[in-house]
Amino acid sequence: MSYHVNEKGYYGNFGGAFIPEMLYPNVEELRQNYLKVMAESDFKKEFNHLLKDYVGRPTPLYFAKRLSEKYNTKIYLKREDLCHTGAHKINNTIGQILMAKRLKKTRIIAETGAGQHGVATATVCALAGLECIVYMGEIDIERQAPNVARMKMLGAEVRPALSGSRTLKDATNEAIRDWINNPVDTHYIIGSAVGPHPYPDMVARFQSVVSEETKWQLKEVEGRENPDYIVACVGGGSNAAGAYYHYLNDPDVKLIAVEAAGKGVHTGESAATSVLGKQGIIHGSKTLLMQTNDGQITEPYSISAGLDYPGVGPMHAHLYETKRAEFIAVTDDEAMTAGLELSQLEGIIPAVETAHALAIFEDKKFKPEDVVVISLSGRGDKDLNTYIDYFKL
Ligand SMILES: *Cc1c(COP(=O)(O)O)cnc(C)c1O
Repeated sequence: MSYHVNEKGYYGNFGGAFIPEMLYPNVEELRQNYLKVMAESDFKKEFNHLLKDYVGRPTPLYFAKRLSEKYNTKIYLKREDLCHTGAHKINNTIGQILMAKRLKKTRIIAETGAGQHGVATATVCALAGLECIVYMGEIDIERQAPNVARMKMLGAEVRPALSGSRTLKDATNEAIRDWINNPVDTHYIIGSAVGPHPYPDMVARFQSVVSEETKWQLKEVEGRENPDYIVACVGGGSNAAGAYYHYLNDPDVKLIAVEAAGKGVHTGESAATSVLGKQGIIHGSKTLLMQTNDGQITEPYSISAGLDYPGVGPMHAHLYETKRAEFIAVTDDEAMTAGLELSQLEGIIPAVETAHALAIFEDKKFKPEDVVVISLSGRGDKDLNTYIDYFKL
């Protein structure tokens, strides 16, 4: 069984490129070139140089002593929160901006929900000197004012999506419309391991630096490259894909994917895609998708904007179907409690998305000698208002 993408762009039953004919040339150009470009030594050199000196990699693999004592197991945190801009998303946008330049694109578009991917995209566009247009739902623009200001300050144009629920899904539709209208000069930077092939694979490869580092870092401290478990929260699946990547075909490394249960998996206010989803097509890929009986996409809900997505990347749908990864759903309340706990046990305020991954220790028990690596996908600065409102700080 392979957990990587096959030649046709599928992970088992999931993936592919279900796109309007008008987009075919863009996606095909990327498909034909992405592996070739990524293998060029110039590209690798520039990518690695920027990851080191601009993003701040390698990020530490930190042994969380007090957290480990509390749960009686060995917990390591892979500190993506220390990346420039505060989360793992920059690993992907750095890779994609270099890809866009190699493909001679001069104009970058992106979609964003909470604004984290928008900020990461605006950042690399400033770095590369390319025009940047970020589509964002009108409602999200109101909710995420600081990130909107950041994008503008970085020189990006933020265009409101005014249709539908005026959130992420609608912003994505606008971005796709833009791409159809500008097929020659524009590259669309997708922010997670979602979208038509080759995006999920390309994003996973750019994020795979996370597990590449984990291997040698763990070898240094534990004398072995493989942990017993890797835990990551899953929105679209990019931080999880990066944390799992070099371990996917090592069955002794158990993978845990944590989804947002919102107010409870079966309350109708949730984003637990794998449990609630059925096979469907969203944003150009066949995957598990929350939908009504007649196939209309259901509005997801989570307290964390980054996990509030009705689908999941095709790699993760496959990991779920094959049971290669164990999927756990965590509620808003459990995540918020875990976020506060990490802050007070380790002095690290995590993003609310990341706090979901930290919440599994209440229910799931590990052995004292188990080595558990958690993808600490982002820092909590952006979520301070959410924490303030929730805990009445
Ligand atoms: C966006 C985001 C996520 C969710 O996205 P994935 O593609 O599933 O990784 C998780 N954590 C943080 C900090 C984020 O910003």
